[in-house]
Amino acid sequence: MTQKLSGKVAAVTGAASGIGLECARAMHAEGARVVLIDRDAARLDELVGDMGDGAFALKVDLFDHAQVDGLGEAIRALAGGLDIFHANAGAYVGGPVVDGNPDDWERMLNLNINATFRAVRSVLPHLVAQKSGDVVFTSSIAGLVPVVWEPIYTASKFAVQAFVHTLRRQVAPDGVRVGAVAPGPVVTALLKDWPKAKMDEALANGSLMQPTEVAEAVVFMVTRKKGVTIRDLVILPTTVDL
Ligand code: NAD
Repeated sequence: MTQKLSGKVAAVTGAASGIGLECARAMHAEGARVVLIDRDAARLDELVGDMGDGAFALKVDLFDHAQVDGLGEAIRALAGGLDIFHANAGAYVGGPVVDGNPDDWERMLNLNINATFRAVRSVLPHLVAQKSGDVVFTSSIAGLVPVVWEPIYTASKFAVQAFVHTLRRQVAPDGVRVGAVAPGPVVTALLKDWPKAKMDEALANGSLMQPTEVAEAVVFMVTRKKGVTIRDLVILPTTVDL
């Protein structure tokens, strides 16, 4: 590894599984101290134990306002700073609107939108004060292209992208970069909620990526030279036709 992130601190939400875990691992392998944030405390402890020096576990339930509001401070207390905040945690609900359960929608929207924006608010003052830093979101291809079989998820990720595009310009004068990685389907626990027909189709034509692909994209984003932002990085299996 090239140690391109040596001396940096990266914090990743939803880091006990899937994309967040691989992003944390990839930034750690590049020399960053990493804070893995998740509500799954047991898994976090196991993971940071395996990763060794420079990996820290921060148990946070992103639905808990007090914990989220204290996130920036908690990260710095644990790892001694913060340079890269990866707002990754998210959930999925698909299917036709008429069959939908609004309570499931509300939980997903609260995580994908409200908790995500609130978490970013808690870390921003520090990045702005130090006049440098990265805020990376895990959006989705569904944040850039309407995906008709998952309207509520698509709406949540369009909101994330709208936030990326506006926040990026607000904090650019402070030296803070904001961008999103927007993947197509990735093999993680989240796909258990995918419609079965979609999974069968994806398996048949090989349209699934591994979370390590997304992690490489995120490392690319946060290792650009100062003054260059990767605003939206779309990463798709070649067989996905959108
Ligand atoms: P995942 O289910 O593997 O991981 C999600 C993690 O978030 C879990 O560790 C879970 O414990 C944590 N989490 C959930 N609710 C939480 C809460 N309230 N507080 C703290 N932690 C919480 O999912 P994933 O596929 O790795 O998804 C990560 C992100 O990637 C999401 O934003 C998702 O929308 C996005 N995404 C996923 C795919 C895909 O196909 N898997 C594609 C595009 C975008």
